[in-house]
Amino acid sequence: MSSTLSALLYLAASVAFIMSLRGLSSPETARAGNFWGIAGMAIAVLTTLAQPGMQVSLWMLLAMAIGGGGGLYIAARIEMTALPQLVAAFHSLVGLAAVLVAVAAFYSPASFGIGVPGAIKLGSLIEMGLGTAIGAITFTGSIVAFAKLQGLRSRALEALPMQHQINAVLAATCVVLLAWFCLTGNEAALWLLILATLVMGWFLIIPIGGADMPVVVSMLNSYSGWAACGIGFTLQNTALIVTGALVGSSGAILSYVMCKGMNRSIFNVILGGFGTDASAGAAAGAAKEQRPVKSGSAEDAAFIMKNAASVIIVPGYGMAVAQAQHALREMADMLKKEGATVRYAIHPVAGRMPGHMNVLLAEANVPYDEVLELDEINRDFAQTDVAFVIGANDVTNPAAKNDPKSSIYGMPILDVEKAKTVLFVKRSMATGYAGVENELFFRDNTMMLFGDAKKVCEEVVKSIGGGGH
Ligand code: NDP
Repeated sequence: MSSTLSALLYLAASVAFIMSLRGLSSPETARAGNFWGIAGMAIAVLTTLAQPGMQVSLWMLLAMAIGGGGGLYIAARIEMTALPQLVAAFHSLVGLAAVLVAVAAFYSPASFGIGVPGAIKLGSLIEMGLGTAIGAITFTGSIVAFAKLQGLRSRALEALPMQHQINAVLAATCVVLLAWFCLTGNEAALWLLILATLVMGWFLIIPIGGADMPVVVSMLNSYSGWAACGIGFTLQNTALIVTGALVGSSGAILSYVMCKGMNRSIFNVILGGFGTDASAGAAAGAAKEQRPVKSGSAEDAAFIMKNAASVIIVPGYGMAVAQAQHALREMADMLKKEGATVRYAIHPVAGRMPGHMNVLLAEANVPYDEVLELDEINRDFAQTDVAFVIGANDVTNPAAKNDPKSSIYGMPILDVEKAKTVLFVKRSMATGYAGVENELFFRDNTMMLFGDAKKVCEEVVKSIGGGGH
């Protein structure tokens, strides 16, 4: 294949990736976006395999079959609720790939056209050093993120005393090792750099927890892109450079959006280790648990909502767990028939991944114009008869406004408490992801509807249909 043709094909792949990102930015066009992504990747892989001098070996085909087959198998079986940890796991593989390619290039520079052993070009050493460092941080950081999202508990995932000071010393060490490697191309420097950045990735993510995990996941997404971009330079592969930069920059923009949603600065998240006092919140919650709460049945809820002129539905992680979106839409349709205005309020970090609620509601064919972002709808709660909070908790918790000691303090919340009646659908009095007690459960205008989100919706539908009370 001529170099002009391969440059053109790589350009076509890059354009397909940009179309993919554009498509994925809205649920209406997400399927088309996915298609563009697959097409771009197919063009990029085939063009790479057709490069002059490329010897396609059985090993390469075997590796692609294992990777592709594994990806297909996982995609077909994965539960929607496990997607965030799957994304974290995939990021870790990108990081590991960056490290392995850099090591291969270091030991066999001639195959990559970047010099001979012991005399690698300075520019290539810098690319390799940065790719390795970012890749290793992404690898171990993503493993910790995976473990936290999976809810795994281990001493190795707990922050050490003086963790931030240790991290500062480690960061300085990584910078010194990076400079040593780039300036000398020394073998020991490379391995020490890999070791130090592997530890750095682990320690960087350990102290971050509670409600700040969404930012961590999108930050690691961005890192994985930059690591891939670094490998692209080492491999002199334009498609990989462009793709890596696209993932890196879109991940960075997403991190910015998530930080804005959480009312935090990125430095706050990384350096602060928010959420570490979540256990204190949970402990306080345990003490309060004895207070009385008002709980009702699905019939009570049906009665209240049938008489409401306006209902705002606030979905959260529990709706995803219960897969309640279809039953919920059916309930909303019935309420609309009864004459109520029904809208959905989406918090930027509701669920366990960006856009989680939007995807589920789109799957249930909820009209897009009924689904509103926090900024668009928050003021309307005060004029609303019923806030129907289904499997959401942290995103409604007023501790974010009132309790400076809380791990979620500063995060904007949906002001459901301002509605005339707040109905909370959840299975128990348990806390949400951040582990912070929700004061709203004990308020006079709150009624708890204990049960699985899907079951409760189905029962409410039955009650409305059957005439309720
Ligand atoms: P929360 O985790 O605060 O609350 C979810 C609630 O759902 C729980 O309190 C749980 O209570 C209830 N629940 C669980 N299963 C069911 C079920 N089958 N039926 C009914 N209820 C159920 O979720 P939110 O969406 O309010 O907030 C998201 C949280 O996750 C935030 O803290 C956010 O920072 C964090 N996060 C978000 C990410 C993102 O990208 N969006 C990524 C990682 C973390 P009970 O057990 O009593 O049923």
